[in-house]
Amino acid sequence: MKMTARISDLEEVSKDIAIVIDDKGGLYDESSIEEDFYKHLFASAVSHFDHLVKLATELHYDGSGRRLKFGIVKKAGIGAFACVGKEDIDFIGVHFGTIALVSAIFTRMMSNPNILPNVGDASLETNVGQTYFIPVQEDLENFSPCRPTCSIRGYFSRFLALTGLDFIFGHEIAHITHGHLGILRKTEHFDPQKRRPKLSRLETHALELDADGGATKWTLEYANRVRNWRHKLPVEANNSLGISWREFYANERKTIRYCFFASYLTLRMTSADSWDRVAQQTVSQPLPPYRMGMLMQVYASALMQFFDLSPEQAQSQVSAWCIESEQAHANLLDESGKGELQLNAIASFITGVGNYNEEVNSAHEILAKELSEFAMGETSRMTHPRPRTCDYVVLKGLQRGVELFVIIEAKHSDENPKALELQCFFQEHEGITGLPFSLIFDSNFEGNVLDEALASDGRNYVCGVTQVTSFETVKLASILEKTELLRFSLQHSKCPKLKVDLIQVLDI
Ligand SMILES: [Zn+2]
Repeated sequence: MKMTARISDLEEVSKDIAIVIDDKGGLYDESSIEEDFYKHLFASAVSHFDHLVKLATELHYDGSGRRLKFGIVKKAGIGAFACVGKEDIDFIGVHFGTIALVSAIFTRMMSNPNILPNVGDASLETNVGQTYFIPVQEDLENFSPCRPTCSIRGYFSRFLALTGLDFIFGHEIAHITHGHLGILRKTEHFDPQKRRPKLSRLETHALELDADGGATKWTLEYANRVRNWRHKLPVEANNSLGISWREFYANERKTIRYCFFASYLTLRMTSADSWDRVAQQTVSQPLPPYRMGMLMQVYASALMQFFDLSPEQAQSQVSAWCIESEQAHANLLDESGKGELQLNAIASFITGVGNYNEEVNSAHEILAKELSEFAMGETSRMTHPRPRTCDYVVLKGLQRGVELFVIIEAKHSDENPKALELQCFFQEHEGITGLPFSLIFDSNFEGNVLDEALASDGRNYVCGVTQVTSFETVKLASILEKTELLRFSLQHSKCPKLKVDLIQVLDI
């Protein structure tokens, strides 16, 4: 069975979608990418999209009879599109140029020592891939993705690029799940009686901004899921990946700040330097400054909701993030690597918007009822309690008269249901020990092997190793002052349950 939602052949979608893809140039084949760093980033982007599609499927498609697929399309300009096709298949296409340009923006930013200087060791960066302009399509000669010198910043540039791409992909998912394409199809209905009048400019703007709101929801939801996967990821060590990951994901407010940074800049990169109502009314897409302004509003309300901020506090936080992003944009484009803030784009929107946004909002309100006909509700899924696969115990005993604490963890072996992989962690005078061992239970053993190991067999083994004759069980939180032991255990643990509890008690 094929495990990815990405299509590699036009046969995998219905004819109508295949025609759309063909019109845009067909499917892209990334085997032409030679540079290793970019090759890897490209693969990560594809796997992010795959995760997003699985998440969307879980939330909206289960039981609907429809399926969502995606593909990378041979088009060098920035862009993406969604189609609701025949044969119960929906499709999201991403231009390969989008991946190239977004990757280039953020990897080049992190190669500049003046952009997010607190991440990693910015002094290692020399801004070698100096950027004179941001092209409108892939340009590997003048604007290729480039690997920052500091490897912490290298990983960080990937997190930013992937988050920016989540925003773009999330926008397309929202077009489908919010029912926008249902209305569009009605405007093309072959039966004039059932055909809906074409969407007005205001209505189109309303749908696009609604998709941006959905995109932010996806971006934050996905980032939050990554945060919650922490105990399953190899990110506790003090290596580049660990340090970089924790900078991006360990603190929720920082994660939101970086999500804003990544989303704002994917809009800013294509922006003209000003906005006015007259120009806006002549084009069907809301212009970037408008989308940037609305992005700020969406983030301000997220801050009020998640952190109980007042509207003023939320507004000033988002304004600071906007300046941070604008400064990064200016630095990227300046020869010296340090440019002057160019706030014209966002400022012209804020001063010029007047009641335009209210008009767009009321257009959306009028559409709401019609949209609800096509919108995909969230499927409620029963969550089944999963069987426990690992556990741990914290013990206190006396070793030659000195108090000794031991953490024992046990995890089911993947191969044998009666076998356990264990580790014990303890700190003696000479230092901290992490000792792996395993236990195999008799195939006739009927009890719970985890409980048995942690209460008796595993514990006996540890008594032998540490020469402690009797142990009592204590709570993890009661050994908080043993920070070194706890951190060591977090770095080496293979038991997600222990890792979750350690992250919580260590408050990191
Ligand atoms: Zn759109």
